[in-house]
Amino acid sequence: MFKGILIEKDGDDYRAALKDIDEALLPEGDVTINVAYSTLNYKDALAITGKAPVVRRFPMIPGIDLAGTVETSDNPDYRVGDGVILNGWGVGETHWGGLAQKARVKGEWLVPLPGAFSPRQAMAIGTAGYTAMLCVLALERHGITPHSGDILVTGAAGGVGSIAIAMLARLGYRVVAVSGRTQEADYLKDLGAAEILDRAEFASPGKPLGKERWAGAIDVVGSHVLANVCATTRYGGTVAACGLAGGMDFPATVAPFILRGVTLAGVDSVMCPRPARLEAWARLARDLDPAVLDAISSGIGLGEVIASAQALLQGNIRGRLVVDVQG
Ligand code: NDP
Repeated sequence: MFKGILIEKDGDDYRAALKDIDEALLPEGDVTINVAYSTLNYKDALAITGKAPVVRRFPMIPGIDLAGTVETSDNPDYRVGDGVILNGWGVGETHWGGLAQKARVKGEWLVPLPGAFSPRQAMAIGTAGYTAMLCVLALERHGITPHSGDILVTGAAGGVGSIAIAMLARLGYRVVAVSGRTQEADYLKDLGAAEILDRAEFASPGKPLGKERWAGAIDVVGSHVLANVCATTRYGGTVAACGLAGGMDFPATVAPFILRGVTLAGVDSVMCPRPARLEAWARLARDLDPAVLDAISSGIGLGEVIASAQALLQGNIRGRLVVDVQG
């Protein structure tokens, strides 16, 4: 038996609870992992609360991230005792995930634990940090450099936002943070934000085009915020869009794209091909100061996951939550 969060659905009755689960029920896969740490991402909170249809099969162990050691392996690439991490691939949605003490997965989904990070640090990064890096890579691919101008980061005090700010600042960018939590100004400045703007400035319907302000942006919010970010991006700039914390809609016009040559670069972490994942993790090892991870993460045990999921969706969690699944 092992401990894990289990989500069950019976008609309209949707519930998540910490349970003792029989190891014989683990899904198919060629690698079994002793999970050490998982995390709580926005998507995990949606899955646990049932606020959005993230979970596609029941019962489900949520958790789109895990870090641990290989317990058994029929995969030639992994041996017993290897340190591994996993982000996405539908884990925690269609395949049992990381918010448990054991997982069985396809070896091809795994990434070796980067030498630069401990398992806990890798989960302080988690899907949020790896996605932040995919966004930085998208800006770079479109020619954005620290000389291009300011970079705007929305949802700044959240997981993706916090890590994006820390990395961009370390890479030499001038970062402008957008947050609904002005009380977190010192936290955001310590991460490297040069300026903090109130989310309210972006949250209402805006004009098709506004004053040109940012060379690039990383948006986790969607909806009016993304529309206003695009409308105020400078000629030839790029906006990397990865989130929907403010809504799935995109009430914008084509004006920024056809009159200013702005690029809207979509970023997906779940089905992101393996070479791009390896590149993102290698760049995280190079460009993210591990010391930042202590400042942006707090730890919880499996018993605190369900209450924390509610708090996260209410916007009350700062930075990243690491789950010590053995604790
Ligand atoms: P967090 O909850 O940690 O951060 C989200 C932040 O968005 C909050 O901290 C808050 O920042 C802001 N926010 C919250 N609610 C609202 C709202 N109603 N309107 C405007 N802003 C809001 O989540 P993550 O950082 O883990 O994820 C952020 C988003 O990115 C989510 O939508 C998530 O699903 C998505 N995502 C997508 C991935 C992909 O593969 N495309 C991968 C990872 C995440 P503040 O208080 O500073 O304003």
